[in-house]
Amino acid sequence: MMGDRDFRSVVKNAVDSIGRELEIEIDAKDIKTIHLKEVVQCLRRSYYDRVDPKEVERRGFNDLLAGMLRKLQYGSNPKEFAIDDIKLKGHADMIADDSIVLFRPTNTILETPQANDLLYLNACMWIYDKKDGIIIYITGNKEEIMFSLTRDKKMFEEVIRRIRVLSDLLKEQKTPILEPSNDCTDCQYYQRCFITKKNTKQVSLSEMLGLSKD
Ligand code: SF4
Repeated sequence: MMGDRDFRSVVKNAVDSIGRELEIEIDAKDIKTIHLKEVVQCLRRSYYDRVDPKEVERRGFNDLLAGMLRKLQYGSNPKEFAIDDIKLKGHADMIADDSIVLFRPTNTILETPQANDLLYLNACMWIYDKKDGIIIYITGNKEEIMFSLTRDKKMFEEVIRRIRVLSDLLKEQKTPILEPSNDCTDCQYYQRCFITKKNTKQVSLSEMLGLSKD
């Protein structure tokens, strides 16, 4: 009989392999094409994803929701938007009634949408030339929380600024600065960002204060 631990690892492996299949494909070497997903999250994370990636830990099937919807026949096709010589690539989960629709998992009932989801939704409205959009959060208990948004130019300008920053840093091979947020806790690069190996000798308090041991 399959034990609880085996069952968990089967589910985890299934979630990981489906997650890999559903991942938005990014050509790490093509620094003139930036995906919207890369600039609405921490730029440092996106930089590491391209130059020295580490696999993300997926928490469950709920995390795969948006990717699965994009693959279905009523999912939308990816689209590009030119910003000077850079191509911004976006992919809405769905377009319904001339509105962009995003689906996101959540563990809690949200009072307001997440900032990075708002940036993603708003940018999709510009990329697909739509005026309205909605984000539908779905909890583990299958409750739905819906937020609607009308497109906003200033918010899109912020996305454009971040696209230029990421493209320049990739070209110069410079690691972006830390962008500490709640996302750091689940980030696969947490140790790289916040836990540095110190190559220093141990110093006692008395030595630090310049006191003799005698
Ligand atoms: S740990 Fe935080 S600052 Fe570091 S890459 Fe991840 S999200 Fe960015």
